[in-house]
Amino acid sequence: MNTDTTLAGGAVRAVPLTFHPRPGTVHARAVSGRFNTWRWAMVWLTQLVFYGGVWLTWRDGDTVRPALWMDIPHERLYLFDQVLWPQDALLFAFVLIVAALALFFVTALAGRLFCGFACPQTVYTMMFTWVEARIEGKPAARRALDAAPWAPRKAAIKGAKHALWLALAAWTAITFVGYFTPIRDLLPRLAIWDVGMWEGFWLLFYAAFTYLQAGFARESVCQHMCPYSRFQGVMTDAHTRQVGYDRRRGEPRASARSRGAGDCVDCTICVQVCPTGIDIRNGVQYACINCGLCIDACDTVMDRVGRARGLIRFASENALSGRGATTVQPRVKMYAVLFLLFAVLGVWQMVTRPEVRLDVLRDRGVLMRETADGRIENAYLLKVANLTREEVEYVAQIDGLPGATIVGNTRLRVAANSVASLRLTVSAPDDGMLRGAQPLDIVVARLGRPDENASERSRFLFRLRRFRSSRRRRENAPVQRFAARRRVARSASPAPNIAQVSGSGTATMWATKYAGPL
Ligand code: SF4
Ligand code: SF4
Repeated sequence: MNTDTTLAGGAVRAVPLTFHPRPGTVHARAVSGRFNTWRWAMVWLTQLVFYGGVWLTWRDGDTVRPALWMDIPHERLYLFDQVLWPQDALLFAFVLIVAALALFFVTALAGRLFCGFACPQTVYTMMFTWVEARIEGKPAARRALDAAPWAPRKAAIKGAKHALWLALAAWTAITFVGYFTPIRDLLPRLAIWDVGMWEGFWLLFYAAFTYLQAGFARESVCQHMCPYSRFQGVMTDAHTRQVGYDRRRGEPRASARSRGAGDCVDCTICVQVCPTGIDIRNGVQYACINCGLCIDACDTVMDRVGRARGLIRFASENALSGRGATTVQPRVKMYAVLFLLFAVLGVWQMVTRPEVRLDVLRDRGVLMRETADGRIENAYLLKVANLTREEVEYVAQIDGLPGATIVGNTRLRVAANSVASLRLTVSAPDDGMLRGAQPLDIVVARLGRPDENASERSRFLFRLRRFRSSRRRRENAPVQRFAARRRVARSASPAPNIAQVSGSGTATMWATKYAGPL
C-alpha cells in the first residue's frame, strides 16, 4: 500500500505503508551519541534500583526486615521507615494520579519520552539485544545466522543466547518475587523448590513473560500491544516536541556531492539504528518511541559530511514546518498544576497519617443483654492498629451515652505496626428514657498521651417497645388461628367439639388459656 508525501518544492514521494514496518526481527545497528548515552544511563539507573532495592534492609527496633517489601499476608507495604496499610489506599490513589499526570505532562511537552528511555519494555529489550549482540555479532551477522540452515554452530550460538536470556529472565523473576517474599528467605527455599503456590506461579510467569516480551516480542509490543502508543496521540499537538525530520532542509535527498540537493544524503543509517524499524523521514509515526537514536545516527552523518547537526531533532511540528513558534499550551500548564496539586495532597496525606486506627465491630451473636440489676449491656470488638514503631498501651473510653459505663477491661497493649483486639462491654441503665439504637462514641487513646487517639461512632441497642408487642403477637399467632377456625366451626355446627376442630390437645390448652384475652 502506498501513500504520497509532498516534498519541498512540490515534488511527491510515494511512501509504503505497512502494518509491520519491517517483517521479521529488527536487528538494529549500534550507534553512539548523547541519546544512546542517556538511554543506557536510564537502564543502569532503573535496574540498579530494581535489582538492588530488593536486597536493602531496614532495622525496626530489634528486627531487621527488607526496606522495600510488600507483605501481602499481613497487608503491609514497607517503604524504608514507612509502613503503609490498606487504610492508606487514598495515598496509593494519589501516587497513581501523580504518576499518570507526570506521564501526561511529559508526553504533552516532549512526546513518548517515557517509552524511549524508561519503559520496562524498552529497558529489557535493550538488555536482551545487548546479550544477543555479544553472542551473535553485528546486525548483518545476526541476520545471516537467522537465515542460515540449522547446523551445530548455529545451534550452539542460539543455545548460548537463549540460555543467557533465560538466566536473565529468571533472575528478573526472582527479584520481582523478592519484593513480596524476603529474598534472603526465598533463595534458599528456591534451591530446593520449596516455594508456595503463588510464589511458584509468579516466578514461572514473570520469567516466561520477560523472556518472551524482551527476547521475541520486542518492538512489536510498542507497535501493536502497548495501549499508550494508541492514545498518546490525543496528548500531543503541533506544539509538542518530538523526534522529527526536517523535511524542508533534508529534501530532495541525494548523495553529498549532488548539487542542489537537500542535506539528507539518503544513507538510511537513521533507519538502520531504529529499534522499531521505522523511517522517521516519512513523518511522525505512532511506532516511534522517541528514543532519539536516529538523531545520534544522523548527527554523526552530518558531522562526517560537514553539515550542521539537527537534520533529525527534537522539535515541534510547527518548528519543523516553519508554521509558527513552539509555545507551551494551556493543556501542558494544566497537567503541571494538577501534578503539583496532587503531589502536595499526597505529601499532606502522608504527613497527617494517624498513629493509631480503630475499627469497631458490634457483637453479631447477641444484640443486647438485660442484666439482673435492670441494665442493658452491648458487646463490641475493638480492632486497634498501632502504626508507630514501638509497643503502645491504649485505653478505651466511651462518650455520648448518658449513664453508660464500660464493664471489665479497658486496656490493650499493641505491638509496633500491629493490630490487636479488645472485647468491650458497655452497660447503660434501662430506665425507659432511651429506646432503640442510640449513638455511642468509642475512643481509644494512648496511655499518658490522650491527644494520640482514634474514635469511631457505633450504636448502643436498648429494648424496643414495638419489639415487645410484636413478640407478643408472634406468641399469640397460633392461638388466634385456632380461634378463627373455631368461629368457623361454630357457625357450621351448633355444638362444636373443640378437640375435634383442633385435632390437637396442645392447641386446646392454648385456646383454653388464652380464650379470655383474645
Ligand atoms: S524513529 Fe528515531 S526516535 Fe523513533 S523509534 Fe526510531 S530511532 Fe527512535
Ligand atoms: S541518517 Fe540523516 S542523512 Fe542519513 S538518511 Fe537519515 S536523515 Fe538522511
